[in-house]
Amino acid sequence: TVPAFNTLAVECVAAPDAALLPRVPGLADDLFQSDGTMTKQEVRAATVAKLMPMRGALLWDIGSGCGSVAIEWMRAARYARAVGIEPRADRRAMAAANALALGVPKLELIDGTVPEALDGLAPPDAIFIGGGLSVQTFDAAWAALRPLGRLVANAVTLESEAVLIALQKEYGGDLVKLSVHRAEPVGSMTGWRPSMPVTQWSLVK
Ligand code: SAH
Repeated sequence: TVPAFNTLAVECVAAPDAALLPRVPGLADDLFQSDGTMTKQEVRAATVAKLMPMRGALLWDIGSGCGSVAIEWMRAARYARAVGIEPRADRRAMAAANALALGVPKLELIDGTVPEALDGLAPPDAIFIGGGLSVQTFDAAWAALRPLGRLVANAVTLESEAVLIALQKEYGGDLVKLSVHRAEPVGSMTGWRPSMPVTQWSLVK
């Protein structure tokens, strides 16, 4: 459960850490409040790198969850802006708290589901699809993306991976599979604990 927003705000303002943290994407997962569905450190770093944060550029973070990708985008370049689209109020509350704690309180959060929620938003310079992936969502996003804009879509399910494979055949771009294993205790020994592999499609308009 997420504490009341003003409680979080007081805690965040009281902990002035954000300015000391690196602006290179790939912050530790435990710097974010999340319910476990967040994009994890190594995958997040690779994702934001491909989105190419630039001065003043606007990101749409579709299925923004706890906001980790949008927040790292905003931290990475001066005046970078981001809109997160997320239907779950609990996750939007975490994203707002994370944005405040990590020094980017201007993160804009929209309550909506894609593709409908994309109507009328300002055209972006980069788009991340981390949830709500479908051909319809891609079509709406791609149409709105500005020339030379970057689009990155991550999939963990077979169904959404199938969508990415079909889109890559039509539009080109790079498909990669990211698989992260973390060393964790296995009894008195240590073993590799795998995370679910992420299929990532990226292309430039
Ligand atoms: N990058 C996020 C990952 C969130 S997981 C993070 O670091 O937290 C994917 C998110 O997509 C979920 O929060 C889910 O609620 C959201 N989602 C699912 N379908 C959606 C849709 N049609 N429109 C918008 N968001 C959607």
